[in-house]
Amino acid sequence: MLERIKNLLPGFNCGNCGYTQCDDFARSLINKTENPSQCPVLLRPSYSADKKAIEEMLSKEPAFHPVKIISGVIDHYLADIILHPLKNEKSCRETLLPFSSVKVEPDDVIRYRPLGCPITHIARVIDTEHNLITIVIIGPQTTRSTDATEILDLGICMVLAFQGTYEGRSLKVGETIRFLPHHCMMQKVHSGVVVNLENGNVRIEIIDLKVWSMPEKSGYINRHN
Ligand code: SF4
Repeated sequence: MLERIKNLLPGFNCGNCGYTQCDDFARSLINKTENPSQCPVLLRPSYSADKKAIEEMLSKEPAFHPVKIISGVIDHYLADIILHPLKNEKSCRETLLPFSSVKVEPDDVIRYRPLGCPITHIARVIDTEHNLITIVIIGPQTTRSTDATEILDLGICMVLAFQGTYEGRSLKVGETIRFLPHHCMMQKVHSGVVVNLENGNVRIEIIDLKVWSMPEKSGYINRHN
């Protein structure tokens, strides 16, 4: 159903629905967190047949439809969900515990390497509280377009939590899951515990890049299929 809805959306990627890509809006429709009328383009008379077709499809289906298998690219582990950005954000959020004493404030741009990950990330700070830093990823490509002196170097940070919207099977608070952050440059499956579920958003804590076995019940979408 996801592919059919993607094909019926206008494809302008204009962002007026609050999502930067029509594909992300399509997922929010399937998750029942948004409705087709939130796309102003679909409200035009020339798109009324497409809007009606989408509404008919959604009315017949419950939320969260497994369609394919999810797996990481590096280790090929299966995952329960793909984690996408919150509405109006560019990547899902990460909560960091820095080991450095560099002071940061909201809107600062930082460079850090997550403990256990070989890739240096560039991110914008959203919030700081109790020595924890909440960020959204904006790089590494930003290093080419941003003056390096404007980037605060935090060195290695422990990633404690992820937050975003999700695509995949239904989740329960308290369960341990495997997930694939959509922005992960290595497309590596992470694990963690679901601590909050609200309106299609999930917060996952105790993040681990070491993922153990591959239970057959798990798995949903391989975004590279
Ligand atoms: S408003 Fe409509 S056309 Fe624009 S990005 Fe959202 S779904 Fe796509």
